[in-house]
Amino acid sequence: MKKVFLFTLVWLFMCGLATESVSAKKRAKAKHVYHKEIAAVDDVQRQINALNSLMQQKMQQEEDPYATEEDTEVPASGVYETWTNRRINPYMTPIAKLPDSVRINLSQYVPPVATFITSHFGMRKYRFHYGTDLKLNVGDPVHAAFNGKVRITGYEAGGYGNYVVIRHDNGLETVYGHLSKVLVHENQPLKAGDVLGLGGSTGHSTGPHLHFETRYLGNAINPEKLFDFAYHMPINDIYVIRKNSSFDYQYAKASHSSAYKKYIAKAGKSHKSKHHRR
Ligand SMILES: [Zn+2]
Repeated sequence: MKKVFLFTLVWLFMCGLATESVSAKKRAKAKHVYHKEIAAVDDVQRQINALNSLMQQKMQQEEDPYATEEDTEVPASGVYETWTNRRINPYMTPIAKLPDSVRINLSQYVPPVATFITSHFGMRKYRFHYGTDLKLNVGDPVHAAFNGKVRITGYEAGGYGNYVVIRHDNGLETVYGHLSKVLVHENQPLKAGDVLGLGGSTGHSTGPHLHFETRYLGNAINPEKLFDFAYHMPINDIYVIRKNSSFDYQYAKASHSSAYKKYIAKAGKSHKSKHHRR
């Protein structure tokens, strides 16, 4: 009886061992499968990550996918390749080489002086007038029209007198002439409305006024196309520079200069012929 009991015990123990080893095998197998699945998940995750970074790269390369067609017309601030403290127009970019249309954001405009026009942009007797003249008194503060950076502070006895040129974030450059005093220095960043100098009558000037120019890539645009000087505000928040219409004064200028040349030639001839008769 004792023997039978002992045998049963041993048998039960053996069974237990066997069961134990079977479940161990199962566990090992399960572990293996689990690791395989984890590896597969990792692999998928890696692929997703790779795809994501590829998509991000592509999106950075491409234009903003949510931008409207009109918005993408704004290359203005990225057009200048040169920064120099010399020459009002160092770019030598003829109008013919400008893009067909460029949008300029004028919404942040602050009037340089809030007065009235004393002389318009256009042809003068002997030289072309590239700006709009605005009334002021000597010593009146003159303000930067937009955010930007001072490119030139200079003096020109026969022309601008004391003057400042600012390159603006919106792509325009502005010129302020005949100042009695310049209060900024070259390469100084400015906010719209900052005082850049005091009004005066220096240079080629017959009385105190501000000579105010607006230029794009060195080419002057009539400021009255951009701003309403009676209301001291931009005509529209956006001004589209168009190669064909923004620089239409060029045609008048060209015809004037050829007419002027003819006039000079004719005057010279008549002078000579008179001389001959004598
Ligand atoms: Zn002027």
